[in-house]
Amino acid sequence: MFTLILLGPPGAGKGSQGKSLSETYKIPQVSTGDILRAAVRDKTELGIKAKSYMDKGELVPDSLVVEIVAERLRKNDCHNGFILDGFPRNILQAKAVEKILAGLGKKIHYIINIEVPRKEIIKRLSGRRVCRNCGEGYHLIFNPSVDDKRCDKCKGELYQREDDKEDTIEARLKVYEEQTAPLIDFYRKKGALISIDGVGGFKDITEKIVNAIESR
Ligand code: AMP
Repeated sequence: MFTLILLGPPGAGKGSQGKSLSETYKIPQVSTGDILRAAVRDKTELGIKAKSYMDKGELVPDSLVVEIVAERLRKNDCHNGFILDGFPRNILQAKAVEKILAGLGKKIHYIINIEVPRKEIIKRLSGRRVCRNCGEGYHLIFNPSVDDKRCDKCKGELYQREDDKEDTIEARLKVYEEQTAPLIDFYRKKGALISIDGVGGFKDITEKIVNAIESR
């Protein structure tokens, strides 16, 4: 059993690597981005509050996000560990995770920072497409669906996330640099950070993460 945090800029591959690790280790992937997108799609109270921030590429207020994570990590399926993807996004959230876990008698075992240069991120995000129905991710160049418009798995419509459009990508990268990147030092100082080069083949990167986990 272990708990793992995936850090890295938008487009680093946290979502897809998290999914693969979740299948390998049979622990859930807890993605705040996915939870928030589902809330927006279902027009819940949370979704209505979060949407305008997400569309602009800004962080949704901590008070909303911390509460969702606390609730999610209390669920039974997280008992044997979990992978946090997209949370924490700033120092306040990092401190909140420590508190939530302490309350559950748990701690963070691994913090994996996936490193990807800015130019590569822009290329990745602008080509990204997502299935509106099942959330499966595609990329126009690196991982296209058979017909570019429909999901190979469920035939749902593929769409471009509002925040993957060019202007918003810049805003998200700025938010990342200002608010999230300081977490790298925060965790490095605790001696807990494992940095992984996130450029290259998907499976090679998964393997690097798995090796890093298993060699500790
Ligand atoms: P992601 O899918 O992780 O790129 O998240 C998409 C958007 O959801 C972000 O640009 C934020 O608006 C919001 N979001 C996701 N995770 C968080 C978080 N931990 N704190 C605040 N906002 C978040």
